Amino acid sequence: MAVSTAAAQVACSTCGHVFDDYDAASALPRLACPDCDSTGRAFRHDLNDSVEIHEQLAFKARHGGQKPFLEGKSGDSKSHDARWATVEQVVDRENNRYRKKVTDSRGNVIRDVDESLDSHRGYGSAKPKRPATPISNSQIN
Ligand SMILES: [Zn+2]
Repeated sequence: MAVSTAAAQVACSTCGHVFDDYDAASALPRLACPDCDSTGRAFRHDLNDSVEIHEQLAFKARHGGQKPFLEGKSGDSKSHDARWATVEQVVDRENNRYRKKVTDSRGNVIRDVDESLDSHRGYGSAKPKRPATPISNSQIN
């Protein structure tokens, strides 16, 4: 949550004349209004609050203690350029399907991936833990 600083304004309560100098206008004893001679003042404070709520839901489905056969997440994710985007991702190992859709805060689709897991492996967050270049049996000895 971010709260901006307050903007203050002092005006004459009789004629609405806006005083440029807040400190002088709000000080006591008050100077008379240059327009109507009144010493009444109206104080205005503008508070601009902005609240941002970000959330993400994730799920994993397993058969026993195995690697999840289905997992996914949906929600807000901060991208590398520090902007918030909505990410929907599903990794469906049973059906060999990878689905990812990234939408920016304006609703523009940044990424829309729908492909087999086999073709997806090797890049992105689904990068396998094993070395990218498989070591052949002959090299292992
Ligand atoms: Zn006035």
